[in-house]
Amino acid sequence: MRVGPSDVSAMTRRGPNVFGMHDSSDVIVIGAGIFGCGISFELARRGHRVTTVEMLPGPGQGSTSSSGAIVRFMYSTVDGVRLAWEGNRYWEAFADYLEVPEEAHESGVARKVTTGLWFLRLDDDLHARYVHNLSEAGVEFEDCTPDEVLERFPFMTLDTYGGPASPDDERFFGPATGSYGGALYTPDAGYVNDPMLAARNLATAAEAKGACFRYGCRVESIRTEADGASRRVRGVELTTGETIDAPIVVAVGGPWSSRLVDMAGLTGTMNITTAPMRHEAHVAPAPPGVDFDAEGAIIADLDVGTYYRPEAGNQIFVGSTDPEVDGHDWVDDLDVMNREITRPIAERQMMRTARRFPDFGVPHTPKGVAEAYDVSTDWGPVYDRTDVDGLYVAMGTSGNQFKNACVASHLMAELVEAVEGGLDHDRTPLVVEGRYTGVPIDMGSFSRNRSVNTDSTGSVLG
Ligand SMILES: Cc1cc2nc3c(=O)[nH]c(=O)nc-3n(C[C@H](O)[C@H](O)[C@H](O)COP(=O)(O)OP(=O)(O)OC[C@H]3O[C@@H](n4cnc5c(N)ncnc54)[C@H](O)[C@@H]3O)c2cc1C
Repeated sequence: MRVGPSDVSAMTRRGPNVFGMHDSSDVIVIGAGIFGCGISFELARRGHRVTTVEMLPGPGQGSTSSSGAIVRFMYSTVDGVRLAWEGNRYWEAFADYLEVPEEAHESGVARKVTTGLWFLRLDDDLHARYVHNLSEAGVEFEDCTPDEVLERFPFMTLDTYGGPASPDDERFFGPATGSYGGALYTPDAGYVNDPMLAARNLATAAEAKGACFRYGCRVESIRTEADGASRRVRGVELTTGETIDAPIVVAVGGPWSSRLVDMAGLTGTMNITTAPMRHEAHVAPAPPGVDFDAEGAIIADLDVGTYYRPEAGNQIFVGSTDPEVDGHDWVDDLDVMNREITRPIAERQMMRTARRFPDFGVPHTPKGVAEAYDVSTDWGPVYDRTDVDGLYVAMGTSGNQFKNACVASHLMAELVEAVEGGLDHDRTPLVVEGRYTGVPIDMGSFSRNRSVNTDSTGSVLG
């Protein structure tokens, strides 16, 4: 059910005071990653007095800064594809979407680079599911034959080796056992060239609408109070002991999300839970003679367990598709997680890359990033209210939701207004019409209490 803007949005907006802070806030956003900045912008442009609290020194410096920022459309549910298809349009219109002149952005505006994505065809069932979902969501795609793929990427082989292997398995270096059956090609896919800049752009846009950002402030607790039979959020307390009051809190802590859920006393109240999982992504020079900036694209390579995209300076960004054989590196304490890449993982990924690009030279000094995904039970996001009135979460982004940050921010702002205006979203999930594509997006699909998606790939692919 759709409802109109709440009374909260009708409140007169007042800007920050001389200290750059609001005298009082309608909403506190915890976290200034791409989501926290996007949600702050969407709420501020609706007239809410937003205070955003971030423990790092600036916007987008958490997991967002390590993102591959790939914009793709293959997801295991039609709603997931619809969201990504709508989300893509925000990136295509990003500079205009921000509603501030480009000169207002100190370091320019992030931009989407459209390369197309080739999902190499390995598993016919997965291929059929993607074709179905893309068709349902109205996403343009082409089924490419192996010859068409090789014509496009003459520097690549389509050999397959029986699925991802560990380097200590003799199969890792073994001969080809088959060949990819072509690829599913989506021409509109691409990547955002600078994810941290994108977050900064959204923060600048939010500030232009009156939001105030407080950096270097860590939330220690989320304050709640009994309100009749239910609980209501009252604000947050920082590690300094300072309290900030607000009737609405939106928790967007990225990999720290489960910690924020604990802080609000909500452990065990959701069907979908999240936890941080460490990941590395690597960067290496393109094979000699290949201009990967111009000739490369995004390529998903499930047989080897990697995906590739062009990286500035004629390099290849190499990500992992989380093959089971690599195991899962769950993180107990994000404060002490190793944020340096490790030689064994880097070498494994580089050697896998060499199987796909025969002229690729494994670099002596690996480069890359190590960060955590906020992985949900079924690798799909939660964009929802919680059992505490006034407390909302955008979490479980599972290494695959950068692309949806702007559209999800719009959804979250609509949700806050609808629920604060009286909608029983748990009973009658909000459906939001996509601003650009006009497609209906059923927010029930992103509920904390949805059934676990059994079609999920159980990986970063969602
Ligand atoms: C290596 C890697 C590659 C990825 N590749 C892709 C990709 O190609 N495509 C894609 O769509 N997605 C990708 N993702 C996922 C995407 O980057 C994330 O989903 C997205 O950046 C998450 O944004 P966020 O704002 O939720 O989290 P973050 O950017 O982590 O922001 C959360 C912020 O909350 C702050 N915070 C947490 N707790 C507190 C507290 N108590 N007090 C104050 N502040 C707090 C943190 O400091 C942090 O800045 C990738 C992720 C990683 C790690």
